[in-house]
Amino acid sequence: MDSISCKAYGKINLSLDVVGKRADGYHLVRMVMQQVGICDSIEIRKTEGTDISVSTKSGEIPTGPDNLVFRAADVMRKTFGITDGLSIHLVKRIPVAAGMAGGSSDAAAVFRGIRDLYGLPADNRRLEELALPLGADIPYCIAGGTQLSEGIGEILTVLPPSPSCTLLVVKPDLYIATPAVYKAFDHIPEREVIHPDVDAQVDAIRKGDLFGVAKTCGNVLEQQTGADHPVIGQLERFFLSHGALQSIMTGSGPTVFAIYDDHAKAEQAMEELKRVESFASFQKFVTGFVPGMDA
Ligand code: ATP
Repeated sequence: MDSISCKAYGKINLSLDVVGKRADGYHLVRMVMQQVGICDSIEIRKTEGTDISVSTKSGEIPTGPDNLVFRAADVMRKTFGITDGLSIHLVKRIPVAAGMAGGSSDAAAVFRGIRDLYGLPADNRRLEELALPLGADIPYCIAGGTQLSEGIGEILTVLPPSPSCTLLVVKPDLYIATPAVYKAFDHIPEREVIHPDVDAQVDAIRKGDLFGVAKTCGNVLEQQTGADHPVIGQLERFFLSHGALQSIMTGSGPTVFAIYDDHAKAEQAMEELKRVESFASFQKFVTGFVPGMDA
């Protein structure tokens, strides 16, 4: 086999809580990560030389060593003594800098893809260990699906698949830098922080209770980001007044998602949203939850 094709799915945070900070400045989180049906496609091909090359038509991401897929390939080559060159082609569909772990998911796909291309003896646990130094969300993305992520993202508990639903995802035209969001969060006095009930959400997932999952959604990072960017609240109110069970921001934003138990209602809400002029340029998706990958 000279090449392999893989899919890299985006994620949303059904809940995201920050519960502390490590001495090195990393935030300690508790979050329910959920893979969704918006995906990048990646092709990894062995080449004659000894270099790693990355190509993509997306103008929004780097193609050199700053691209996370380059770094993932580099770690795999060094760890397993691979001497072939590798060319990696990336078709980007996950919105960039959106709170959907697009870069992390691409990197995870490259860890899995190189393992499978060479038949390497590395299970998902081993790949998660190798991935953590590249980014705290990458270990989750190795298996994806529905997981509780704790610590800085390295303590993972696989959960049963979330009950199915129709999901609307909208990425406003805003660039929000993740470090700035965490910095702003650090300035909110603890007594004013509204923490989501992550344990109640995990219970609801275990019971297959979509209404319980929707009711317990919450993102501690939204307090500040929502105040700074009113469009986030505007989108959520739109969805809630158009039949959604729930609507919140994912990750460090600015993407907003809405959960529907009725597919027709969700389609209709998206059609109506498309007619709102101030939302016209936003990226929009009708999708759902996607189960995780074994191994
Ligand atoms: P997270 O939810 O993990 O915070 P995000 O969705 O906010 O991630 P990404 O789309 O992963 O953000 O992009 C964050 C930054 O990473 C971008 O500024 C981009 O230039 C850089 N980056 C490096 N490699 C990639 C990649 N393969 N895909 C997307 N972005 C990448």
